[in-house]
Amino acid sequence: MAIDGLAGTGKSTLARTLATRLHLTFLDTGATYRGVALVAMEEGADLSSGQAVVEAWKGHQLGFSDGLLTIDGVNREAAIRSAAASESASRIAVHPEVRRMLADWQRGFVEECGGAVAEGRDVGTVVLPGAGLKVFLVARDEVRSSRRGEVTAAELARRDIRDATRSADPVRAAEDAVVLDTSEREVEELVEELAGIYWLTVGGDG
Ligand code: C5P
Repeated sequence: MAIDGLAGTGKSTLARTLATRLHLTFLDTGATYRGVALVAMEEGADLSSGQAVVEAWKGHQLGFSDGLLTIDGVNREAAIRSAAASESASRIAVHPEVRRMLADWQRGFVEECGGAVAEGRDVGTVVLPGAGLKVFLVARDEVRSSRRGEVTAAELARRDIRDATRSADPVRAAEDAVVLDTSEREVEELVEELAGIYWLTVGGDG
């Protein structure tokens, strides 16, 4: 299952809860961009160069342990959630070579797990275009910025514009995605609705 949308639409909470409910692995693709961005920052790479970022990443390994990101086997969740890592992740995500590298890794991870609930920006359009169920979440701007309390509305807007207007895999709903507005909805209610659609359409096959 692919769940995409901009920051603050509720993707992570929904995808995590659905994965538990459907007994599937959860994949946070945003964490993989954050992880590569963190290492690139630590190595002092030029974030405006895709090649430099890919070069800085060489020799490192991504992983997930209980849904939490590891780099070279070490849990780096706290570091990748910093404001600096958020900003850097969005900056390196514009580079086609970084996107190709991470999309390949994400596909391999889902294959190894025999399926997953994967959330991000381009899962339904690029990473898993054959996903059995694609969901695209939207929410009103003021709701999104209140959910992302750690960033200002202006910072969120800057990341949105970069995510939605970059030439490589901009955020958009797949043609066959179910589009849901989460502004006024409770997580539990959305989980019920999507789990119901999942069993009806995928029937537990993928
Ligand atoms: O979802 P999250 O906020 O953790 O993602 C961090 C950044 O990674 C996003 O702002 C976006 O630029 C990038 N990203 C992406 N494609 C994905 C997931 C995240 O470009 N599938």
